[in-house]
Amino acid sequence: MKKISEIRKSFFGDKYVIFAPKRSLRPHKISEEEAKRKEQFKENCFFCPSPNEERAIYQIDASGKWLVKVVENKFPALSLSNPKAYGKQEIVIDTPNHGEDFCDLSPEHIRTILDVYAARIKSINELENINYVQVFKNDGGKAGASIPHAHSQIIGLEFIPHHMMTDTLAMDKYFCEKGSCAYCDIIHKEQKEKERIVFEDANVVAFCPWASSSPFALWILPKAHKNKLEDLTPEERLSVAEALKLATSKLDKEEIPYNFFIHDSLPHNDHHFRLKIASRMNVWGGFEIGSGVIINPVFPEDAAMFYKG
Ligand SMILES: [Zn+2]
Ligand SMILES: [Zn+2]
Ligand SMILES: [Zn+2]
Repeated sequence: MKKISEIRKSFFGDKYVIFAPKRSLRPHKISEEEAKRKEQFKENCFFCPSPNEERAIYQIDASGKWLVKVVENKFPALSLSNPKAYGKQEIVIDTPNHGEDFCDLSPEHIRTILDVYAARIKSINELENINYVQVFKNDGGKAGASIPHAHSQIIGLEFIPHHMMTDTLAMDKYFCEKGSCAYCDIIHKEQKEKERIVFEDANVVAFCPWASSSPFALWILPKAHKNKLEDLTPEERLSVAEALKLATSKLDKEEIPYNFFIHDSLPHNDHHFRLKIASRMNVWGGFEIGSGVIINPVFPEDAAMFYKG
């Protein structure tokens, strides 16, 4: 384990992260309470199959019942009917089985969830005045999941978020200077240095990024330069699913709450698709909020060992 602090600059863009290793990072185990909480909510769960279940916007069926189902968000902050907070919010119910964890689903099932994400991103992008679609999952108490039935969320926005715009401009700048895709180059660098790689097969590579802004951050990238989840072949999606299952299983086992989110290239751009996992262990203090500079207690090299261990 690395013991001495180090400031790192991101591979592209101008983001700095301070790595300051600390002992005893693991939050206490909450498995038993969690199990009880899951049981408690089983009755009256909005997401469980039932005769009066919510109408599907979209669903994938197998042997007469749904496998993955998309419904409207019942308590949306944004809606198509509110011009003052215009947007589209949907919930993807990952499985019909209450209490079944995302990480325990088969890689094929997780691929089906990815297929659903791709289909919904496409449809929501086609809505009038929607210019950005964010798919994400919150898993674990601290990461903000309020209903213990495995699900992910989609939000379509009228505007392009600042964060996404900054990232895109940084990639454009990189391309102007180097003539190549920043993420393609990151893949080559990681393959050469090896120590941060967690998963690799013919289609994808997953690694803990050099200047990760959360402990145990992990990026999953297709090796081929593809812009969108929609462009990935079924084989590539299965590889993404396998990497995602491996990573989320590890995080769940250690009770580490996490988010993952999908970044397609913005429309009319030619950037690399990426799926990113961020843990929610780090509490932001005045320094982080004031400066935007993150102090990360876990070096990515140690995080990679955690995933591979
Ligand atoms: Zn349920
Ligand atoms: Zn979980
Ligand atoms: Zn690329």
